[in-house]
Amino acid sequence: MGNIKDILYRHSPLFIKGILLNLIAKKNHKKRYTVSYEEYLKEYLTLWQQDRNTVLAYQSKMLVKLLAECYHYVPYYQKDFKTKNISLSDIQNDPYAVLSQLSILSKDTRKQKVDDLVNLNPNRAVTEIGFSSGTSGAPTKNYLDDESTERAFALWSRFHKNIRIEKGDKNVRFSGRLIVNPLRKKPPFWIYNFVDRQLFMSAYHLKDENLRYYVEKLNKFKPKLLDGYPSALYILARYINKNAVKLNFVPTAIAGTAETLYDYQRIEIEKAFGCRIYNQYASSEGSPFITECHNGKLHINEDSGIFEFLNYKNEEAKPGELARLVVTSFRNWKTPLLRYDIQDTVQVAARQDPCACGCKMHYVEKIIGREDDILWTEEKGYVGRMDTAYKGLEGIVKSQLIQERKDLLVVNQIVDDTYNTRMDQLLRDNLKDRLGENLTIIINIVNDIPLGSNGKFKAVVRKFKI
Ligand SMILES: [Zn+2]
Repeated sequence: MGNIKDILYRHSPLFIKGILLNLIAKKNHKKRYTVSYEEYLKEYLTLWQQDRNTVLAYQSKMLVKLLAECYHYVPYYQKDFKTKNISLSDIQNDPYAVLSQLSILSKDTRKQKVDDLVNLNPNRAVTEIGFSSGTSGAPTKNYLDDESTERAFALWSRFHKNIRIEKGDKNVRFSGRLIVNPLRKKPPFWIYNFVDRQLFMSAYHLKDENLRYYVEKLNKFKPKLLDGYPSALYILARYINKNAVKLNFVPTAIAGTAETLYDYQRIEIEKAFGCRIYNQYASSEGSPFITECHNGKLHINEDSGIFEFLNYKNEEAKPGELARLVVTSFRNWKTPLLRYDIQDTVQVAARQDPCACGCKMHYVEKIIGREDDILWTEEKGYVGRMDTAYKGLEGIVKSQLIQERKDLLVVNQIVDDTYNTRMDQLLRDNLKDRLGENLTIIINIVNDIPLGSNGKFKAVVRKFKI
């Protein structure tokens, strides 16, 4: 009773958490930024500027390496190779043809048979077990080895370098990590990681009464990069713009991750911070990357894996179509992903013009988001990107669309005093324009919209299968 450790625990849980966080960060730092990481980064930076044939030759070489490892060491894929009579020389002769013959790996199978999917190569020791949150149920396990971690961080670093951020630049991260007790009422709502010069800010405390503390802290900290959930950055940006808050720093860049970045969020965030926000796609299960360049194109990182784009008929999507992603990854060697149906969707680009940034890798038009975030009505079919329905509207702080049935849409929204009946009508009209006339729309004004799993905000939810 009453020893120093107890007192610290009782009175300064954040202080203790800070120490633990920094110890973990130190360990992670050592694991991530190795000599191999430096080599991968150099290779990736070169590939970003190389001609298309060189990129595709690299992709083909990596695919052979990945398929061969799965052939030798991954029981789940070994069965598939055997059933289809695929030999090692088939892999070496035409890896793309081999890949196209393999079965698509579903999320459920990935989750249930994870131990069958582990690469048993004795040279690949498990160095970390990650867990990715699903929208429902238990998280998916993800075994990692050194190479997987190093490659992932090399790809991250390339994205950052492309938007003029260097390792060691002061940065702020908003994520779903519960870093601060959710019940905490007064600042700090953040913890500092000295090792990576990274301020973790809680995405769970962005309530009206707390926002000024966040801004004060940012003004003191002066980050070069802000990164994290667009929904969290948007709340802060909206507060800054609405109250004409003066920031005494201009970040070099903002990076949106893990959630869909909507155009209305982009506009508000860029206005508040006076710099560009760049979109990025990668999943915690180890998918390949899609990253936005400073020319605004969402380049498929074709050296990090292979993306297949399937339309709703399960055929290869045509230019301009909405497509679901099936991914094969070169950044996850311990739990390899071959033709993994990751349940995310994009809009395929109508054309592939040369990008002014110099990168020859192809790009997608838009990252749409989770497959179950796409609404569907009999009149209009699939409708992605509902953010355009809010164009010209004022007074909506936060809004969530829940399609309960084919003919019923519930809108839950938090509004301020500038929201009026005219806005209400305009929103109904906009929604009907996009989703059709035969849809019942219920608009609820609410005080709070709870965050989904892992602290992510779900702007659109469809509750039935098509
Ligand atoms: Zn580009």
